[in-house]
Amino acid sequence: MTFELSERVQEVPPSGIRRFFEIAEERDDVISLGVGEPDFSTPWAARDAAIASLERGQTSYTANRGTRELREAIGEYVGDRFDLEYDPAEEVLVTAGASEAVDLSFRAFVDPGDTVAIAQPSYISYEPGVIFAGGEVLSVPTTEADEFRLTVDALEAAGADEADVLVLCYPNNPTGAIMRERDLEPIAEFAREHDLTVLSDEIYAELTYGGDGEDGVDHTSIATLPGMRERTIVFNGFSKAHAMTGLRLGYALGPSEAIGAMNKIHQYTMLSAPTTAQHAALEALESCESDVRDMVDQYDRRRRFVLSRFREIGMDVFEAKGAFYCFPEVPEGWTAEEFAEGVLREEGVAVVPGDVFGPGGEGHLRISYATGLEDLRKALARIETFVEDNV
Ligand code: PLP
Repeated sequence: MTFELSERVQEVPPSGIRRFFEIAEERDDVISLGVGEPDFSTPWAARDAAIASLERGQTSYTANRGTRELREAIGEYVGDRFDLEYDPAEEVLVTAGASEAVDLSFRAFVDPGDTVAIAQPSYISYEPGVIFAGGEVLSVPTTEADEFRLTVDALEAAGADEADVLVLCYPNNPTGAIMRERDLEPIAEFAREHDLTVLSDEIYAELTYGGDGEDGVDHTSIATLPGMRERTIVFNGFSKAHAMTGLRLGYALGPSEAIGAMNKIHQYTMLSAPTTAQHAALEALESCESDVRDMVDQYDRRRRFVLSRFREIGMDVFEAKGAFYCFPEVPEGWTAEEFAEGVLREEGVAVVPGDVFGPGGEGHLRISYATGLEDLRKALARIETFVEDNV
């Protein structure tokens, strides 16, 4: 007997980077700049809180929306850090990673045939998520000329005025692009004018860099702009800034009606987010700010190093100011895939070809600097050798 797979599942192609993992397995000296997760361990205080909760036997489900203490702490945290105001009782939903929150939002706000515009290149899960929900994806490519920020011109060129939902991810995976308030204002105006629901993935909100003055950047959420709170869902979580990927904890913020709809799906499909992780997350918000600042400082040091080495090597790279990625251009005459495969086979450095992340990513490589400086030094030296020998 063969299973009859649903059309929706069949429509989603297998991940474009699987082949690279197979090549990487052939060598035992590979340095990976390919993964999007912190090389740091979860701060000790958060780990201790998780352990203590287990010792107390706190292993039951929590309230569907997450523990009251954690939702209150999240409300306070996003208020202090990002000027976001959400009522912990009705406007915060704790989920199994931001991934679950993203998926819930597609299922809650997308009907079969609805169009979801996605600013790309972007995180690889949005497109499959839209397809699983029965929606149609509309790619809105961003370009290096705009430093991979979304523009109204790009939205208009793609026909996003006809879309129902717009997905944004800033700071961006894979480009490292950020959008400042002045960049977000015209996008917000477009969303209001065309009545778009905005899904804003802000999981890298803590990870912005750039120095002082005009260029000193802190994250701005599009939900803080006039008329946007009522049409926006914000996603965030503990995987990136708090180095808690394996604990699987994230959250969604939005108006009570929208969060209630997402919670309806969550309560039937997940019941509640992992209890142990909720204890860790509460502690992370209460006492781990300096750990986060230390990690951000280290990412920034690595970011500067990686950007300057690519420029020395002679590869163009725009000044990424967020997340822990940079997005250099491959040399002329190469496709991203050829370059990524070559540098992996010949030099044992794993990077991700930009096309995997959708239109706009061609001709680029995603380089993750969530890797120690020593390995980054070695990897960049190997990339330099590859370029000297082959370009
Ligand atoms: N959103 C973006 C933009 C990501 O890059 C990732 C992970 O790489 C996620 C969401 C998933 O986060 P979580 O571990 O909280 O599910």
